[in-house]
Amino acid sequence: MISFQYSRANNIAEAVRVMADNPGAKFIAGGTNLVDLMKMDVERPTKLIDVSKLPLDKVEETTGGGLRIGALVRNSDLAYHPLVERRYPVLSSALLAGASQQLRNMASVGGNLLQRTRCPYFYDVATSCNKREAGSGCSAIGGLNRMNAILGASDSCIAVHPSDMCVALAVLEAKIYVIGPRGERVIAFADFHRLPEDMPQRDNNLNMDELVTAIELPPQGFAANYTYLKVRDRLSYAFALVSVAVGLELDGGRVKEARFALGGVAHKPWRNAQAEAVLSDRPANEATFTHAADLVLREAKGFEHNTFKIELARRAIVRALSQAARGTSQSQSNKKIA
Ligand code: SF4
Repeated sequence: MISFQYSRANNIAEAVRVMADNPGAKFIAGGTNLVDLMKMDVERPTKLIDVSKLPLDKVEETTGGGLRIGALVRNSDLAYHPLVERRYPVLSSALLAGASQQLRNMASVGGNLLQRTRCPYFYDVATSCNKREAGSGCSAIGGLNRMNAILGASDSCIAVHPSDMCVALAVLEAKIYVIGPRGERVIAFADFHRLPEDMPQRDNNLNMDELVTAIELPPQGFAANYTYLKVRDRLSYAFALVSVAVGLELDGGRVKEARFALGGVAHKPWRNAQAEAVLSDRPANEATFTHAADLVLREAKGFEHNTFKIELARRAIVRALSQAARGTSQSQSNKKIA
């Protein structure tokens, strides 16, 4: 049993000030990951600063033609928001692929960005884990690593980022708005999450005293040709073995612009600029898509139990790009193959 203080912030300035005054504190909103981590003794905040009543729960169109999503918008509310369903369906689809309906009803989008890996050793305080305790070792490298990374891993950590939403946000090239004692700043989505390198205890580039306030989507939503394909051990309430978010702009049968990101394979949503570039001005067919998949996966490295994910990812990329090109996106409520 750990003891901690609790306070509720009445406004953003108060939340930032209380955090600055309490270096061991954590912000809490939906609590769908943090409370589990506290129960399992992985996180031990000295204080919880409840930000759930702050006015950050709106979805608003921006003057530039994009969408600004408050950090406290619930995952369910965002997935079913008419503007998101119509203009950014890849985001809606990814959200609906995540967790369970009950969790989506509770979880905030800001918290979704910050959720921590589900590597089982991270949650088991009897084992060594560099992410939980820097310098203690990585139990997954020589242990059970079926769910772990095949791209971007390091000798310190082979964990994967668990979010579905973030894979779609990578494709959409969202921006993250944060505020702290030094003011507001904007972080490009590609720069928000980190690779483990020799500091796996840091999942992202948010400073400890900063609060996520909003996610901004640019105007381009790939609403005609998109997909979010999630391959997992069971059809709901399971983390991805491999997932693929795709957004395509087509010109007849050719690719004008392509973006795709992988989930379940790395410490952050994984994009490869070279693989996307080779799709440009090419026929939208299986040969083109296979070439792009090969480029992404030529740097992949499997461990004892997860080498199968390399071929799985290759097939998932080709299938997801093919589905997007045909305009037959993957339904998250009807799991038949599109
Ligand atoms: Fe910990 Fe990362 Fe190793 Fe898992 S993969 S045991 S999270 S250091």
